[in-house]
Amino acid sequence: MQVHEYDVVIVGAGGAGMRAAIESGQRARTAVLTKIYPTRSHTGAAQGGMCAALANVEEDNWEWHTFDTIKGGDYLVDQDAAEVMAKEAIDAVLDLEKMGLPFNRTEEGKIDQRRFGGHTRDHGKAPVRRACYAADRTGHMILQTLYQNCVKHGVEFFNEFYVLDLVMTEVDGKEQPAGVVAYELATGEIHVFRSKSVVFATGGFGKIFKTTSNAHTLTGDGVAVTYRRGLPLEDMEFFQFHPTGLAGLGILLSEAARGEGGILRNADGERFMERYAPTIKDLAPRDIVARSMANEVREGRGCGPNKDYVLLDLTHLEPAHIDAKLPDITEFARTYLGVEPYTEPVPVFPTAHYGMGGIPTNIESEVLRDNTDVVPGLYAAGECACVSVHGSNRLGTNSLLDINVFGKRAGRAAAEYAKTAPMPELPENPEAFVAGEIERLRTSDGPERVAAIRADLQETMDANVQVFRTDETMRKALNDIEALRERYKNIGIQDRGRRFNLDLLEAMELGFLLEIAEVVTVAAIHRKESRGGHFREDFPDRDDANFMQHTMTYRDQSSETEGIPGMRLEWKPVVVTRYQPMERKY
Ligand SMILES: Cc1cc2nc3c(=O)[nH]c(=O)nc-3n(C[C@H](O)[C@H](O)[C@H](O)COP(=O)(O)OP(=O)(O)OC[C@H]3O[C@@H](n4cnc5c(N)ncnc54)[C@H](O)[C@@H]3O)c2cc1C
Repeated sequence: MQVHEYDVVIVGAGGAGMRAAIESGQRARTAVLTKIYPTRSHTGAAQGGMCAALANVEEDNWEWHTFDTIKGGDYLVDQDAAEVMAKEAIDAVLDLEKMGLPFNRTEEGKIDQRRFGGHTRDHGKAPVRRACYAADRTGHMILQTLYQNCVKHGVEFFNEFYVLDLVMTEVDGKEQPAGVVAYELATGEIHVFRSKSVVFATGGFGKIFKTTSNAHTLTGDGVAVTYRRGLPLEDMEFFQFHPTGLAGLGILLSEAARGEGGILRNADGERFMERYAPTIKDLAPRDIVARSMANEVREGRGCGPNKDYVLLDLTHLEPAHIDAKLPDITEFARTYLGVEPYTEPVPVFPTAHYGMGGIPTNIESEVLRDNTDVVPGLYAAGECACVSVHGSNRLGTNSLLDINVFGKRAGRAAAEYAKTAPMPELPENPEAFVAGEIERLRTSDGPERVAAIRADLQETMDANVQVFRTDETMRKALNDIEALRERYKNIGIQDRGRRFNLDLLEAMELGFLLEIAEVVTVAAIHRKESRGGHFREDFPDRDDANFMQHTMTYRDQSSETEGIPGMRLEWKPVVVTRYQPMERKY
């Protein structure tokens, strides 16, 4: 075992982790640990854009952006956090521009902006052009730009290091981080990184679902690791289904396609969003569009031999416009479905996309241990965190923004904290838990297979914790998850080696997925209302009197929730500053 010492350890080299590293790396000795090579992080797959009220192409301001974010999130957004994000958005884009990001430009050379769902002029009057973009590879450009700037500032990267545990130590009767334990893929060696502050930026957990836009690696490791250490998870019941996944595959076609003028149609050729959102139609927030699509299919107006998808029509757009603004995603339609978007509409259906919930933080990116108290020295940012700027439904382009704004805040705060904090003492054998798990899995020889359990988990989540949910479907999922957890105890892996043992790491990741799927489902059963991305057919209305609150789920052996032992669910008030909840019409 090797022990390293840093002021700040950042777990994750996506947009949030690297934006944090740029701040921290200039102020403190910083290490970034990442399980995949930095520029392969999922941020690089982001297509459509990053929003900020620059008002480069039409009138706009950060107050409208704040309002849209809060209404888009169905009023579960913490309004102080949304204000911070919308205000700091402008500098976040300009920071990236100064770092060298090649944004698309207007004719007079300003950063160009386009429309995206839920972003409106003057509190919902019409769609507004707020998303800054680099064709349909905005995330790729962000990730490359941030990586180059990390290299410039001498940030140290530990690539293909899997963080599997957070080391906590007691200071004045309360736990705080002393570092992390990582497994090095190339050698199979265990490393302990001792540090004054730890930042989690490990991204999402879309792999609890089968049909998803998310990469194979998005298994929620950081979310599960902190939860296992007794810290709460916030609002896990809210998972976003993006309307336009390629039908049957889930590969994403960015909302930019609709921002540039694309239209959704049912089997009758009808532009059905006119019925569901008469003012902004196809550019309604994602929860509304996804539900409307699923409803069209349910009511028999789906397309194709099984009537199980709808169509995204771009055929009225000029091919030159498509090539300039949407080159990658139209290529996806050709490659994966054999459809030519110039002349044919593209089959689409909702795909699991984004977890609104995660590790709870305040607006300084400090992790909360309960509704009010923070864990000194522990930070989280990006998709693994819940600050909560997205509430119960995230608006498109607000995540690339979130990772930049709160990544920057986390990096600064972590470095500032490390300036005065003493180096924490490591507990005895800090690696013991990870070493034990690795050895147990490496030598496991049971009959169950990791891939089979993962597939069954994804199958039940797709079937039962979907766009439409009921108590009955979710309890079915929960029973399945419990059975899968039993099977997980009897797995056997084939690769017994120490080097590049991905078999072993996938077994670890499956453990994280099972844990998270259970939290998502129990929190969803517990929320007996419909709001944003969480729609219950047995409770179809939003219920502000009882449920305008965040859920906080704790792992707690002495409690039980919804018949599940080992879990405790509490409520946390929503921060309301200026906007009282209103009916959500578009
Ligand atoms: C296909 C697609 C398109 C999208 N398009 C847009 C868009 O146009 N606009 C928008 O705003 N949002 C978009 N999103 C959402 C947005 O891209 C993501 O939410 C955001 O980029 C997440 O950034 P992150 O830094 O939090 O995580 P990621 O970029 O996912 O990075 C996670 C990092 O954590 C590391 N990590 C994870 N687990 C471990 C571990 N155990 N040990 C060590 N390291 C670990 C990984 O190696 C990786 O470096 C899109 C998402 C997808 C999937």
